[in-house]
Amino acid sequence: MTQFNDLNLDPKVLKAVSEAGYETPTPIQAGAIPPALEGRDVLGIAQTGTGKTASFVLPMITLLGRGRARARMPRSLVLCPTRELAAQVAENFDTYAKHTKLTKALLIGGVSFKEQDTLIDKGVDVLIATPGRLLDHFERGKLLLTGVQIMVVDEADRMLDMGFIPDIERIFGLTPFTRQTLFFSATMAPEIERITNTFLSNPEKIEVARAATTGENIKQGVVMFRASRKDREAGEKRDLLRALIDAEGEACTNAIIFCNRKMDVDVVAKSLKKHGYDAEPIHGDLEQSQRTRTLDGFRAGEVKILVASDVAARGLDVPSVSHVFNFDVPSHAEDYVHRIGRTGRAGRKGTAIMICSPRDEKNLDDVERLVQNAIPRLDDPRGAAKPAAAEAPATEAAGEEERPRRSRSRSRSRSRDEAKPEAKPETAAPKPVEAKPEAEPKPEPKIEQAPEPKPEKAAEPAPVEPRRNEQRGGQRSHQGRDRRRQETREEEVVGMGEDTPAFILKSFEERRAG
Ligand code: AMP
Repeated sequence: MTQFNDLNLDPKVLKAVSEAGYETPTPIQAGAIPPALEGRDVLGIAQTGTGKTASFVLPMITLLGRGRARARMPRSLVLCPTRELAAQVAENFDTYAKHTKLTKALLIGGVSFKEQDTLIDKGVDVLIATPGRLLDHFERGKLLLTGVQIMVVDEADRMLDMGFIPDIERIFGLTPFTRQTLFFSATMAPEIERITNTFLSNPEKIEVARAATTGENIKQGVVMFRASRKDREAGEKRDLLRALIDAEGEACTNAIIFCNRKMDVDVVAKSLKKHGYDAEPIHGDLEQSQRTRTLDGFRAGEVKILVASDVAARGLDVPSVSHVFNFDVPSHAEDYVHRIGRTGRAGRKGTAIMICSPRDEKNLDDVERLVQNAIPRLDDPRGAAKPAAAEAPATEAAGEEERPRRSRSRSRSRSRDEAKPEAKPETAAPKPVEAKPEAEPKPEPKIEQAPEPKPEKAAEPAPVEPRRNEQRGGQRSHQGRDRRRQETREEEVVGMGEDTPAFILKSFEERRAG
């Protein structure tokens, strides 16, 4: 069996690896590290949980050991689909590079540009970024990608789901043709295949078995659920969820509950808390600081149940999650693989239990087709349906009806930060939804030439001249059209817009008065 020592890694990296407690390389590491160290392109077909992060970080640190970072010109680039995943890669980098002098910067939304700019200005060896944020920095002239020698694309299939492929293609185009590319994806959709054919040069292909589909260490099951009455469905489903958690008893040391919709993440977390469970929500509409706090709490074992959306929990690496509950059958079958892969990591045992409503049955077929296995049907732990034990539908249902509307409009009013794939319609057969990226607002317009770095000041948003009506009345346009109409009646004069000269308004007012 291959040992880390056989892999030609820098002794400083080997020291860090042994301090991390790893004894032998995982298959993706044993397969990817040697060609990566030879400078070859690598196409790794592997999902999280297989040790793929170290499979690119370790050779990267070894290769970058020689050479020096230059201001604004990172020497390597790791692109991740979500902030959480990028932060995790950065953590991995810190662990494995701790005996080296290599530097890194993490470019993700929710962190101030200034801090990130300062690091980039000094020069970093490794830049870990989400695509949107990276392009933001590039367009602000703060970053040159012409010094990138190694580029990693992590979780490319997720990038595809999130609509990041055009950004990735563009970033490829901004880096030197001679760069080395390490490309990872859990699946090889045709679009991913096209990208790899275009941008990778004679890659070494390493495919490792999907832990989730082949892993016998994850016990899977699905409960077919039908509500006693349509209007009681939501409450009864949450009742069933609690029964499933309770039925696992002490075996359930911690759990991630996945919901398809952000609004359900909130409702389920709130409901669990109300019933005395230690649960916290995590989804893209929450502030980054809160997401980080919740994840840290979950990792540290302070939060027992994490109620999550797919995007927020993407790539989440908590080595010992005992249970995954799927509150809904995911509408993208691959998400099932990703979700249940949160448990049973590093050879541990895990349990993945799913609830399937009648409207989810088609999605269940898709999942079973993908994993090429029938998921065992489980009995409802409550015995025969017990709608009476369900939550009072009237009160909760009312709360639930209100929340979605609020949360929908909130997510729309935000930037592109988080109107994500999980914001799916509530209809029975989910249609392809506009897949919007989790992490970053996309910059537009885009310029293909690397702009000259601009002086610090130019990067700040230009001060916007207050509009005339604001100067006059101090009113902001978003304070309500009706109110604004009342308060600045003169603006109702059709055809003059908001720049109507005062003298004209005066004549209208006079005529009106007359
Ligand atoms: P990843 O697939 O990169 O998300 O890694 C999954 C988990 O495996 C992480 O918790 C890593 O710390 C751990 N890991 C990575 N490489 C090894 C190894 N060679 N031996 C044991 N655990 C590892």
